[in-house]
Amino acid sequence: MVKVLVADSIHEDGVKMMRDAGLELDMQTEITADALKKVIGGYDAIVVRSRTKLTKDVLENSGSLKVIARAGVGLDNVDVAYAKGKGIEVYNSPEAPSNAVAELVLGFMLDLARNISRGDHGLKQGKWLKKDLGGFELAGRTLGIIGFGRIGYLLGKKAKALGMEVLAFDVMMDRIRHLVVEVGAKDVALDELLAGSDFVSVHVPLLPQTKHMISSAQFNKMKKGAYIINAARGGVVDEAALKAALEEGRHGGAALDVFEREPDPDPDLVTRSDVVCTPHIGAESEEAQRGNSTIVAEKLIKFFK
Ligand code: NAD
Repeated sequence: MVKVLVADSIHEDGVKMMRDAGLELDMQTEITADALKKVIGGYDAIVVRSRTKLTKDVLENSGSLKVIARAGVGLDNVDVAYAKGKGIEVYNSPEAPSNAVAELVLGFMLDLARNISRGDHGLKQGKWLKKDLGGFELAGRTLGIIGFGRIGYLLGKKAKALGMEVLAFDVMMDRIRHLVVEVGAKDVALDELLAGSDFVSVHVPLLPQTKHMISSAQFNKMKKGAYIINAARGGVVDEAALKAALEEGRHGGAALDVFEREPDPDPDLVTRSDVVCTPHIGAESEEAQRGNSTIVAEKLIKFFK
């Protein structure tokens, strides 16, 4: 019998899948680091979310542990190099929130184009801002997607369905060109994307090469009145440069789900009326949370088969 320790609470659908597949689950979702250290070696697999930290110290006596499954995207709470050095497989579920993030970006574009948040704020303050809130339609406008991976691809498909033109830039274009073609997007250089888009949305990981990849030079290359959207990671867009660009008034505005400082982002940025923002809720859909658990459950079941 394969013994799995479920150390953090995960969506019940993944739990059911593992049970139905005949795995023996031990649900200890409040287990402390000290207790975990003593028992971890007795299991074949462990499932965690972000509460449980699988550090070198905890993994030292990993005994018969063969798999670590992190229900979620990031692996910051797992010492992956150490685990792999001990021959332990590490799984996560980076594909789970892709659609949730793509839909949030659609929401951002609709909000920026039609001033939904501004109208709502006005009404809540007793103001009828009808005359100030003339907007525009997305159909016929151009969306530039930087990073055409899981999220960029889904966003591109949805934008095309709304009648938008889509420009795509990706450093691994040869690997993903077929997806760009499938969507009906146009593969372009970054400068062409910046100059030709009404909305620029970034969907790249935060790496040394992507830190502040959208800064003053890139803002200067953008079309007059264009919007920038960041639902990737804080730091991909240079917030100081964004504030300066918005101050100049050449841009239409911005939408941000992620910030250089979380959970206390720059108040000068988030209180601007030309910035729509949300508190890193890209993955906070019921479907994404369920996906985190069912995707890692599937990977675990496959491994033990
Ligand atoms: P992915 O790995 O599927 O795609 C990323 C793409 O970016 C790849 O195609 C890659 O080639 C490309 N890329 C890398 N460096 C680049 C560069 N310098 N210039 C252009 N393209 C580059 O990732 P994904 O699942 O689509 O996620 C994209 C981003 O969204 C990540 O930063 C991820 O952390 C973030 N994300 C945010 C939330 C949220 O809650 N807001 C949720 C999930 C993911």
